[in-house]
Amino acid sequence: METMKVYAAIIGGGASGLMCACVASKKNSDKRIVVIERDNRVGKKIMVSGNSRCNLTNLDANIIHYHTSFDSGIKYLLEHFTPSDVLSKFESIGLSTYADSENRVYPLSRQSSAVLSVLRNELRRRGVEEICDTEVLSISKCDYGYKLSCNDKTVFAKKVVIATGGKNNYAQKVVSDTYTVSKSIGHNLTELSPSLSPVKVDSKVIKSLKGIRAQGSVTAVVNGKKIKTESGEIQFGADCLSGICVFNLSRILNKEKSGEIIVKLLCDYSLEEINAILSKRVELTKNENVQEIFTGLFHKNIGIALLKESKIDTNINSDKLTKAELTRLANTINEWHFKTAPSGDFTSAQVTAGGVKGSEIDPKTFESKIAENVYLCGEAIDVDGDCGGFNLHFAFASGMLVGEQL
Ligand SMILES: Cc1cc2nc3c(=O)[nH]c(=O)nc-3n(C[C@H](O)[C@H](O)[C@H](O)COP(=O)(O)OP(=O)(O)OC[C@H]3O[C@@H](n4cnc5c(N)ncnc54)[C@H](O)[C@@H]3O)c2cc1C
Repeated sequence: METMKVYAAIIGGGASGLMCACVASKKNSDKRIVVIERDNRVGKKIMVSGNSRCNLTNLDANIIHYHTSFDSGIKYLLEHFTPSDVLSKFESIGLSTYADSENRVYPLSRQSSAVLSVLRNELRRRGVEEICDTEVLSISKCDYGYKLSCNDKTVFAKKVVIATGGKNNYAQKVVSDTYTVSKSIGHNLTELSPSLSPVKVDSKVIKSLKGIRAQGSVTAVVNGKKIKTESGEIQFGADCLSGICVFNLSRILNKEKSGEIIVKLLCDYSLEEINAILSKRVELTKNENVQEIFTGLFHKNIGIALLKESKIDTNINSDKLTKAELTRLANTINEWHFKTAPSGDFTSAQVTAGGVKGSEIDPKTFESKIAENVYLCGEAIDVDGDCGGFNLHFAFASGMLVGEQL
């Protein structure tokens, strides 16, 4: 089996590993640095990020957007590697960017490939080797520093960076999971769950709403308690609710066996106002089918689903609606309850909640407290952010921090 000796081995050619290699290679121009990637190409997740536009950071990246057991590390990182530091780094390697009205930053070209290309070009200029189709199975201490046992070779390195990412979008045909390497040197994980994903719901009407989008608010409810509300575009799937506002509730609901999402379709109106809107519409459509109440207000299928959910016959005329039925209908529009049915499926999740325990990592250097000269960055650590560029910010910023330690 082939063996190699290097100064630094970065395990994982994702956002954090590639950025780490860029920074480390600038400091160590005379030393051999390799990025080891188990897939056939580096940066696949960067390519699909932000609908292939790559929302690479958010100008508002602060601690409230992160969920983690590594508060001290996140706090230090966000103070020392701000969005403008990450953007300056990208600017210096050729990437021009712009921010939208919600402070989300994208490449000016609107192409995620631009982000990956500038990173790879910089690595090529600085002589960093990309070793693809090679999976690191374990790392152990040796006289040289560390021995990385891979599927097809053995790599000896003085310094090792674990940038292996999360469990989501799990690559096929791999021997290990993304945490095997961290566990092989003794790291422990917090509980893992999918986050920034659609949320599966148990509903008889959801199938008829597949593909429909509506504005409104969504509230996560756990054990009868309202935990978090988000508003925006709600997307209905065949068996799930989706859209950025739902994504931001998913980390709460994907962990709960008995959760609920309350959808408010007219979230700017009170129940009283919804009743008044309905009364006017009933009067307007009194000699017509009850479904016409919603014409000009909601998508036709949403109207039908609301009627069914409120146990109203969809074939009657509007003037046949009883007072009790109208009250039920107004209540459903005001608070439409969907029981959630978490599947534990990581394949549609953008990030993994959970990862290597923050208490096992030095908050100022991101060096492992268990193994000297081993560092961690990116989603391998127990850090996940809200939707909007916060996860890539963490990946790039932590990659920069670790790159400076090498
Ligand atoms: C569809 C989608 C869209 C997204 N959009 C955005 C967005 O617009 N903005 C945002 O902020 N975030 C977004 N995210 C989240 C963001 O992409 C991730 O948080 C970020 O890429 C994590 O970077 P990372 O380097 O930690 O991990 P990854 O990018 O997952 O990289 C880890 C790499 O390590 C490799 N690897 C793992 N184990 C081994 C091993 N044992 N040996 C060798 N290699 C190994 C993996 O193959 C992978 O290439 C999105 C995610 C998805 C899935």
